[in-house]
Amino acid sequence: MSHPPLYQRVMLKVSGEALMGDREYGLDTNTCRRIAEDVKGVVDLGVQVCMVIGGGNIFRGIAGAAAGMERAQADYMGMLATVMNALGMQSALEKAGLPTRVQSAIPMQSLCEPYIRRRAIRHMEKGRVVIFAAGTGNPFFTTDTAAALRAVEMGCDALLKGTQVDGVYASDPRKNPQAERYVTLTYLDMLSRDLAVMDAAAISLARENRLPIIVFNIHEPNAFTAVMRGEGRFTTVVEQ
Ligand code: UDP
Repeated sequence: MSHPPLYQRVMLKVSGEALMGDREYGLDTNTCRRIAEDVKGVVDLGVQVCMVIGGGNIFRGIAGAAAGMERAQADYMGMLATVMNALGMQSALEKAGLPTRVQSAIPMQSLCEPYIRRRAIRHMEKGRVVIFAAGTGNPFFTTDTAAALRAVEMGCDALLKGTQVDGVYASDPRKNPQAERYVTLTYLDMLSRDLAVMDAAAISLARENRLPIIVFNIHEPNAFTAVMRGEGRFTTVVEQ
C-alpha cells in the first residue's frame, strides 16, 4: 500500500525562471506541462494545492531599478510579470485536467478573480488549484514572501519551494560536487548562514507561524509528487 501524503494542504512556490526551461526568457510550454502533470499527481493523492509563481523570467523590479527606474514602479512591473506566468500555468494545469482559479493581489477583473482569502480556501476545499498572482500586491517584496504569506493565510501545512537543485546545500552543488546536502535545517540556520534559498522576510514569516519549508528540485519529473509521498530527495526547514 502506498504511503499516505505527508500533508493535506500545501503551497507550491515556483520561480519564474523555473518555467523558462532551456530558453533565456519567457515561458517554455513543455516545462509548464511537466510541472502541471506533477501538480496533478499531487492532487490525485487527495492533497489540496495552491501556487505562487515568480516573475523573474520576464521582469524583476531590482533590474529595472538598476537601469534607473523608480524601484516601486519597477516592482509593479515585476508583479504584472507574475500575472502572465499565472495565466500560463493556469492554462497548463487545465490541459492536465485540473480545475483552477487565479486570484490576483492587484485586481484585474477581466482576467481573474481578486484575492479573497475565504473564497480561495473554498476553492481549495472543492479541489481547485488556486494560483496567487501579483505577489503580495506591494512593491519591495518578493514572491517567496508572497508564497509564505498566502500559505499561512490558507492554513497550509507546508510551503514547498521548487528550485534548481534537490535541497539546501552547504555550498553550490553545481560548482562544488562534494557539497553536502542538508536533510533538515532550522529557520535560524537558514537566516544566519545566508543560504540564498529564500529571502529573510519569507523565512521569518514561516518561522513565526511554524510553517515547514521543503526545498526540492522542480526539474526532476514528478519530484513534487515524490516529495509529498515522503520519497525522493529534499531538505526540510523546521523549528527543530
Ligand atoms: N514583486 C513585488 N512584490 C511582491 C512580489 C513580487 O514587487 O510581493 C516584484 C518584484 O519586482 C520582483 C518581481 O515582482 O522582482 C518578480 O518576482 P520574484 O523576483 O520574486 O520572482 P522569482 O524570482 O520567483 O521568479
